[in-house]
Amino acid sequence: MKTLRLILGDQLNIKHSWFKQTNDNVVYCMFEMRQETDYVVHHIQKVIGFFAAMRVFSKELEINGHRVIYFKINDKENKQNLNDNLNQIIKNNQIERFEYQLPDEYRLDEQLSRFCKSISISNQVYDSEHFYTKRHDLETFFKGKKIYLMENFYRDMRKKHDVLMIANQPEGGKWNYDKSNRNAWKEDVSIPAFKFFNNDVSEVVIDIKQAVIKTVGVFNTNTFLYPITRQQALEQLKFFCENLLIHFGDYQDAMHTDEVYLFHSRLSFAVNIKLISPKDVVKTVINYYRIHEKNIHISQVEGFIRQIIGWREYMRGMYWAFMPNYNKINVLENFNKLPNFFWTGKTKMNCLKQTITNSLENGYAHHIQRLMVAGNYALLTQTHPNEVDAWYLGIYVDAIEWVQLPNTRGMSQYADGGKIATKPYVSSAAYIHKMGNYCNECYYNKNKKTEKDACPFNSLYWNFLDEKRQYLEGNFRMRMMYSVLDKMKSTDLQNIKTRAQHIIQHQDEY
Ligand code: FAD
Ligand code: SF4
Repeated sequence: MKTLRLILGDQLNIKHSWFKQTNDNVVYCMFEMRQETDYVVHHIQKVIGFFAAMRVFSKELEINGHRVIYFKINDKENKQNLNDNLNQIIKNNQIERFEYQLPDEYRLDEQLSRFCKSISISNQVYDSEHFYTKRHDLETFFKGKKIYLMENFYRDMRKKHDVLMIANQPEGGKWNYDKSNRNAWKEDVSIPAFKFFNNDVSEVVIDIKQAVIKTVGVFNTNTFLYPITRQQALEQLKFFCENLLIHFGDYQDAMHTDEVYLFHSRLSFAVNIKLISPKDVVKTVINYYRIHEKNIHISQVEGFIRQIIGWREYMRGMYWAFMPNYNKINVLENFNKLPNFFWTGKTKMNCLKQTITNSLENGYAHHIQRLMVAGNYALLTQTHPNEVDAWYLGIYVDAIEWVQLPNTRGMSQYADGGKIATKPYVSSAAYIHKMGNYCNECYYNKNKKTEKDACPFNSLYWNFLDEKRQYLEGNFRMRMMYSVLDKMKSTDLQNIKTRAQHIIQHQDEY
């Protein structure tokens, strides 16, 4: 029986059991399609990265003896959408069976389920063999609970997978070293120069230009910076262990004008397209730690492991627990538009300028820039979560809906009313100043609230709390903020609100 197996662009898992044996009756197919390049405006480097990694992967399969049909973006036979491409191949190659791996995005999951109903040949769906958890494990874990606390899920994952556990107790005596992950980076702690990959992607770039795909961001060289093969991903992981793990936890939340990546791993693109699995990552990091325990504190390792088996799996579980409605919720009823400077970086607010410029130049910003600068600002200016989602889904090379959506709409924008975050991640200039050096070089004064040169975050913050009182006042974790707000003189609050309204209405002037 001749079988067609689909490999999606984020399913580049060479370790998948599909590839253990070659079989002349199995044909693999991979497509670069307008369906995928056009559903949101992506960063140019994201499109390049996906196509480049897919092309290398298909070559690797062929070298290993597998049969592959690959449609490049400008190929004549490419119908530019999944159903038409599959139907065409099924018809032209007398295919008798269709197989695919579970997609991670709801949209593709629906499309493929519908497609299977529409064809007359048999079909089967396989696990992608990537994650620790199955799609609905988290939902089962929290069944009957009102609050979906990540920490509870994370502890269960540690126990279940015996990660950093000794005799059923957390190694080092604590489950979570989050409190020691909050240092600002001092330049006297050196960051080893990162070895980027010189992936020549000039051919891909020409194809993208020829196809006239609308993109954001810039790409100034012909080399793509992030791993596009499993080998490169493993090299990057090794570099992380040898050079960055030692301070990962310490400076996880730090921000600095001179350092785009600080001690972050830059592994998200490679893991999200499945070049390596979260199990590969955890195993490698823990093995390295075992050999170097004397030099690396458990807080660094736990801080990193928490991101992988905690946050990453948790976000995926939340996505599947709450889709298909999750991408529509807007509990705080925010309706404003994102300012134009999110696409240019042209703003006098230095924290936003740095974060957005990094994002446009590298398709990357680290977690705290995404959460406490760009996300914080979008929430304080009461931006519609659809606008915020579209920006985040497009701008980052690692952005795939299953992980972008719960992080953005849930964690960052609190649009789900607190399913993910126990309180909104909002702050005035104080937090941004504490965690980095942006305020030192800013046009605005971090200590002022209403003057012409006052930091916009300061008035936006109190205005937000005042305007969203009906949704947030009852939240136990917000009580202290509201008691400060309640003690504010009404004239002071009025001045703050007047300034905040002006900022919201003239965002591109700030
Ligand atoms: P590191 O800081 O080195 O962390 C190691 C790994 O942990 C990451 O590679 C990632 O796989 C995982 N991780 C860490 N935090 C999270 C998290 N909150 N959720 C899921 N995985 C996590 N991550 C994406 O992969 N894609 C996205 O589209 C995405 N959108 C985000 C949007 C917002 C508003 C926020 C606040 C966070 C978002 N994140 C997203 C999570 C996180 O910011 C990125 O995973 C991280 O910055 C990637 O850089 P890194 O590989 O250097 O991460
Ligand atoms: Fe950002 Fe305000 Fe600090 Fe400027 S002063 S960097 S706008 S927080």
